[in-house]
Amino acid sequence: MSTTPDLTIIGGGLAGSEAAWQAAQRGLRVQLYEMRPTVSTGAHQTGDLAELVCSNSLGSRLPDRASGVLQNELRRLDSMLLECAEAAALPAGSALAVDRAAFSRLVSGRIASHPRIEIRRQEVTGIPSGPAILASGPLTSASLSKAIADLTGEEHLHFYDAIAPIVSLESINMEVAFRASRYGKGEQDEGDYINCPLTQAEYEAFVAALISAERIQLRDFEKEVEGGVKAGAHHFFEGCLPVEILARRGREALAFGPMRPVGLTDPHNGSAIGYHSGKRPYAVVQLRQDNLAGSLYNLVGFQTNLTFPEQKRILRMIPGLEKAEFVRYGQLHRNTFIAAPKVLRPSLQFHRRADLFFAGQITGVEGYLGNVATGLLAGWNAARLLQGQSPITLPVTTMLGALCHYITHADLADFQPMKANFGILPPLETDQRMGRRERAKAYAERAKLDLDRFLEELEAV
Ligand SMILES: Cc1cc2nc3c(=O)[nH]c(=O)nc-3n(C[C@H](O)[C@H](O)[C@H](O)COP(=O)(O)OP(=O)(O)OC[C@H]3O[C@@H](n4cnc5c(N)ncnc54)[C@H](O)[C@@H]3O)c2cc1C
Repeated sequence: MSTTPDLTIIGGGLAGSEAAWQAAQRGLRVQLYEMRPTVSTGAHQTGDLAELVCSNSLGSRLPDRASGVLQNELRRLDSMLLECAEAAALPAGSALAVDRAAFSRLVSGRIASHPRIEIRRQEVTGIPSGPAILASGPLTSASLSKAIADLTGEEHLHFYDAIAPIVSLESINMEVAFRASRYGKGEQDEGDYINCPLTQAEYEAFVAALISAERIQLRDFEKEVEGGVKAGAHHFFEGCLPVEILARRGREALAFGPMRPVGLTDPHNGSAIGYHSGKRPYAVVQLRQDNLAGSLYNLVGFQTNLTFPEQKRILRMIPGLEKAEFVRYGQLHRNTFIAAPKVLRPSLQFHRRADLFFAGQITGVEGYLGNVATGLLAGWNAARLLQGQSPITLPVTTMLGALCHYITHADLADFQPMKANFGILPPLETDQRMGRRERAKAYAERAKLDLDRFLEELEAV
């Protein structure tokens, strides 16, 4: 490739990889900059493109769930990353969970072999002067963060997010733990999840230990997260709250949250381990398969910032995990995103420079799929712009259109990262009373029809 590409993309994560593919497929010559493995982010562990840093789930596949709607849109728009995710999928009930290593290897292979994409393993420290997409993610390097802050003129918004521990299967005591999917909805006959049941007494002792456990010290400005959400400042994704912080919200917070026992009955004899009645445990810790070989399992919803020795001590109080071997401990990480309502257009263009796009978590879109989707749109729009067409804005009734609309129209004072959900879609135009599920189906159906119509009209132009 010549030294001057048509398009420069910074960040070979979920958004940057998808963006590079989309732009290259449409004929652009792309240079994709990725600083790993030379410079690390602190959370990524490999040099692979599109590495998943925490959970290995891309959300529900069900067509009437928000993530299912977004998956359908990505499929309709020929997302390369979704194709790779489906090829690396693991059994996980109705969720699209992947073997993380296989997934990023597939993406890396597709990108590396594309004739119009050149991968450069180098940290970028300034904003390119030519056409570019900034997709450097929540862990954007310090020097680039500074350059982005100078460009936007806005203060950076940092907050912290937590990742869950992983244990080896052979270290789980299956005489206590049992395999099952909630309400028997898994793909595997014996159940996709490993469940560790707790009695009320065990649950209470566990919660008490969690609350008083020693945590990794946070720096001063990071301590704001401890108080919960502070508008426009540093905060966690609500869905990724550290388990010890959730536990402090109330004695039953975990029993109604990640440790809820609904839809699960324990096939082992309940009385032997002291359940108060029947076979439904008082609380459950679920573990989800983390690699294709099925040898590693992550603790679902157990993001934590406890010190490593405390994680070992306290998580081993969970029945079935008494001898758990921790292959990865939970950790807490930085997150960076721009003030999108002020500086981005719904086409993901920077407000003061039409040839500069932002994509991924740095825009304030949260979640793996949303980040892939914004990458797709930015790559597509960059190609349109450079080929003399106007960049597009998707209908707000589609999930991707609604996400882009939300981040660019939200109240700046309360701006928080947003993931795909039905709440950001415009209300249905009907007076008919509907249940939650029925409404979700109607939203999904409308999103599909409107995207089809939009694409047909676009082709006709
Ligand atoms: C610790 C953590 C856990 C998360 N867990 C989840 C989860 O469980 N589920 C979920 O849906 N979402 C999660 N997220 C949020 C988000 O979905 C992921 O971070 C996702 O990977 C973001 O995609 P992205 O493409 O925007 O950024 P990334 O995938 O992080 O890609 C950005 C890339 O840019 C590179 N880069 C950074 N700076 C530079 C530079 N200056 N020059 C060159 N390259 C650079 C990085 O190395 C990285 O590869 C998590 C985020 C964090 C930080």
